[in-house]
Amino acid sequence: MSWDQLPILISGAGIAGLLTAQALKRLEIPFIIFDRDESVSSRGQGWGITLHWALNDFLSLLPENIQHKVFKCQVLEDFHLNDSGNFVYINAGTANSLVHIPPSKRLRVRREQIRKTLLEGIDVNWSCKTMEVRATDAEVTVLCENGRTFTGKLLIGAEGSNSATRRFTNPDNYQLYDLPVRFLGSTVILTHEEYEEVSKHFDSLLFQGTIPSNDTFFWFSLLSSPAHNGTNFYECQVNFSWNCPNKTAEKFDTVEDKINVIKRVSSGLNENLMFLRDKMVAASDRFMEIRLSDWPYADFDDKQGKIILIGDACHAMVMYRGEAGNHAIADVKLFIDLLEKCRKQEISWPEMIRAYKDDVKARAGPAVLLSRQACLDAHNWEKLKDFQLNKSPLLALRKK
Ligand SMILES: Cc1cc2nc3c(=O)[nH]c(=O)nc-3n(C[C@H](O)[C@H](O)[C@H](O)COP(=O)(O)OP(=O)(O)OC[C@H]3O[C@@H](n4cnc5c(N)ncnc54)[C@H](O)[C@@H]3O)c2cc1C
Repeated sequence: MSWDQLPILISGAGIAGLLTAQALKRLEIPFIIFDRDESVSSRGQGWGITLHWALNDFLSLLPENIQHKVFKCQVLEDFHLNDSGNFVYINAGTANSLVHIPPSKRLRVRREQIRKTLLEGIDVNWSCKTMEVRATDAEVTVLCENGRTFTGKLLIGAEGSNSATRRFTNPDNYQLYDLPVRFLGSTVILTHEEYEEVSKHFDSLLFQGTIPSNDTFFWFSLLSSPAHNGTNFYECQVNFSWNCPNKTAEKFDTVEDKINVIKRVSSGLNENLMFLRDKMVAASDRFMEIRLSDWPYADFDDKQGKIILIGDACHAMVMYRGEAGNHAIADVKLFIDLLEKCRKQEISWPEMIRAYKDDVKARAGPAVLLSRQACLDAHNWEKLKDFQLNKSPLLALRKK
């Protein structure tokens, strides 16, 4: 059978799935993309992500009209034209900076808006949750919860960290590893004056730090400015994470429980930052808990060339180095380059699948563990406090 007689199936319309769809569309390779959600905005997933080392690859996979729109997704309008920000890591007890490094090329964007931008011209089959996968010698079929089925030449599992496809490719080890750390954040509203203060003392886009007295991690980031949200306010995220070796022992069920825990773990936060904690607690209706878990294998049974995993599905990692999305982009770029070679008959289909798997495993497998270590270090001030001496992957990448 000719390799492009059947479509490529993409399960999951996150950044990895949609970027793959855009790239396949450019190459005029048939594909079908589907997602469990009812629409792109049916689940609140509003956080910012920094595209840095994979930014050029990201743009290269998109048509020109969408490339332009990517720049409109920045949390601060046209910030890339004069990126005056720094990577700032502070002692969150004193508010003094531990690390203050000028940025490399980067784009800080709203994840939700990037997804909407990547949707342009792509027809996603919504409400199609992958439940079961069946592979034969010639094809692969996905059965969805709503009764629909899709059959293709290749299934790309792009369903994020809890990938359904991964259950099929890795029945014995698909489960995530939970880190002994708990994370809670919220979206808060800052006046112009409040935002200016934070921006002047720390950074316009984001900064992070650790409270030495209790090893709590603190993270501030901008989500949108008045120019985007049409109000007089700045939408920002305030997040905390803390060591929590026994999650069942910590009372964390109700909003009240959560507020109590946040008050406890944020004690020791510098007084000039406390207003952010107070705003976060006041915004308890927007609390967002993120399960800190990862999957370091980055390896899967491709069912004789019928299935691959990309993005978080293939290498879920915690966000303490801010690079999971960049790895997802690198996966897509790698796959598309190999697919083009395959189409030109420079390599065979099995060679393409093998090359993809080898590269992803070598690149992303160690990255998962570095992010895990970065997370643990972010909650260990003793290890972080001497920046010149420390070798933590939390700061190492930025040190270069
Ligand atoms: C707070 C936070 C900050 C981050 N900051 C950064 C950063 O600065 N830089 C960076 O590079 N990365 C960052 N990341 C990571 C980045 O957001 C992810 O790596 C990226 O979004 C993963 O994209 P994905 O497409 O693989 O998965 P997802 O975005 O999770 O998309 C998966 C899609 O699959 C769908 N789906 C799920 N199950 C099924 C199913 N059974 N059937 C069909 N569809 C399904 C979902 O609805 C979803 O649309 C951050 C993450 C968080 C949580």
